[in-house]
Order: sequence, then C-alpha cells, then structure tokens
Amino acid sequence: MTAPVQSDDVVIARAPAKINLHLGIGSTRADGFHELATVFCALSLADEVVAVEAEELSIVTTGEGAEQVSDDATNLAWRAAAALAERAGIKAEVALAVRKQIPVAAGLAGGSADAAATLVACDALWQTGADREDLVEIAATLGSDVVFSLTGGLALGTGRGELLSPVLAAGRWHWVLAVAEDGLSTGDVYAELDRLRGEGGAGTSLELPDQLLNALRARDLSAVGAALHNDMEPAAYSLMPSLRRTKAAGLEEGAQAAVLCGSGPTMAFLADGEDDAVELATRLSAQGVCRTVRTAHGPVTGARIIG
Ligand code: ATP
Repeated sequence: MTAPVQSDDVVIARAPAKINLHLGIGSTRADGFHELATVFCALSLADEVVAVEAEELSIVTTGEGAEQVSDDATNLAWRAAAALAERAGIKAEVALAVRKQIPVAAGLAGGSADAAATLVACDALWQTGADREDLVEIAATLGSDVVFSLTGGLALGTGRGELLSPVLAAGRWHWVLAVAEDGLSTGDVYAELDRLRGEGGAGTSLELPDQLLNALRARDLSAVGAALHNDMEPAAYSLMPSLRRTKAAGLEEGAQAAVLCGSGPTMAFLADGEDDAVELATRLSAQGVCRTVRTAHGPVTGARIIG
C-alpha cells in the first residue's frame, strides 16, 4: 500500500476489485440492460487514484494493463470526476493518476473501481459537501458496478446490479484468481449469451441464491463452494474455450470450487484458507493455463481515502 501523502492539495483513494459469487441473468429490459440477481464480493486486489489540484482535468494511468486504457474522456475515472464536478457546479480542476493493479477487461470491475475511487478522492479534494447518497446516485449513472465499488463488502445486487442490499456474513474468504492472456468485452459475452439462449443452449435464472446466502451466513466453506454460480459461463467458454482447461486445472490442484468472475475471463478459485490460497496459486502458475495468478481475500471495504 502507498504511504499517505500529507497535503490538502492531494488526495489518494483506493477501491476494490469485485467477483460475483452468484450471477443470475434474466432477460433484456426495455433499456437494453439485462436484469440481474447477483452476489458481489469486494476483494483485497485494488486500484489507487491520486487526485491533485490542477488547472484542468487530466488523467495518467500506470500499472497492470495501463496500455489498454485510454487517458481521455472515455476513461471511467475521468467521467467520474466530470460528473461530480457538474453535480457540484464547479470546474473539474484535477490531475488524476490511476495506479492499476486490477487487470483490465478481466471481469473484475477495474474501471468501476477507478471511477469509485475518483468520486471519493475528488469529493474530498474539492470538499463538494456531497453525501453518500449523492455519490451513489452519480455512481449509478457511470456504470452498473460502480455503486458496488463505492460500497464494497458483500452485497446482493438486483436491477442491473446497482440496487444493493448488504449480505450479513462473518469472516473472510480466500481466493486465487487466474487471469487470462486476453480480455473479454462484457458486451460481447452478453451478446453470445443471448445467442446461446436463442438456440436453447443456456437458461435464465433470477431467483435469489438462498443456498449461497445461507452458506455464507453459516460460514460453511464447502456449501459456499457448491453454491457458486455464474450464468455467463457457457457464453464465456464459447468465446474462450481455453477457460474450461483453466477451471479444471484449478480444481485438480485442490481448489474447493471455481467460478467465472463477472463476464470473465478471470476464473476465481475458492481456497481453504490463506496458506492454501498461496499454495494453490503456485501450483496453478506452474500449469501454464493463464497469463498470471493472484491471491486475494474478501470481503473488504469499498472506495476509501487512504492519504
Ligand atoms: P465491466 O465493468 O464492463 O464488466 P471489466 O470488469 O471486465 O468490465 P474493466 O477493467 O472495467 O473490465 O474494463 C472494461 C473496459 O472499460 C476496458 O475495455 C477499458 O477500455 C474501459 N475502461 C474505461 N476506463 C477504464 C479504467 N479506468 N480502467 C480500466 N478500463 C477502463
């Protein structure tokens, strides 16, 4: 973690990656979004945003996958700063430096994390007086996952994922993330899911995941593992068949269970504990079934100021 910088003109915020322990996807709504029933878990893997007073809005991205991210008004962090400034009726006078650790286009909501970190950082820098509800409202306009990136923890998401209610469950869970060589576009995976559903090859499921919620409350590792589910998996496998091998390798190497992260292509493996996660990560790396392997725990808090 970066050491806090003591200056009124600089604010540093951190926001978590997420995985979906359950991702049920309904049909397409009139506004083009799919209706979701999902359980989000915020992870210790996180991006940081440094916000510095400046004459105009600018952004520089460094770290994991930075070369895949645009440093202009299409960047979600830029859009977050602009939206907050507009709401506050001020000019967006800030230089943003995004330090990425969350892989890009990996199903881990890295862009959403950057937007959430930017909202809290700029809010503190500009002292806009916005309350939590204001930030949540702005977050919802930026993207479906940005509200969760702001909130963090463990939460049930409905609507298009932006309507959250907390899931009460004690303790932390340990994960190994297998990050694929290439990214997958969320839009492409949804389109493939719709195509497969049209052919009768994939179902819809919008029921609340009671089994998972009970297992989380009971802190029952094997029951949580058995209840992990993602409706996106058939579509992601169809676009990236090598993911089946990745999943099988992690399970063979001793993971409790596996689930695709969001629209993929990252695969999350549930480990028995922290030491098991490190061992599993080492063995999975040696298999050569993915670009890189990370360990992470969750749930952790949402976007927050760290300096
Ligand atoms: P989604 O949130 O759409 O499910 P994801 O979690 O799979 O996406 P992200 O890392 O958020 O993946 O990237 C999705 C796309 O958003 C990328 O192709 C990237 O070009 C774009 N993007 C815009 N701003 C950012 C940002 N700050 N960080 C990462 N990607 C960004």
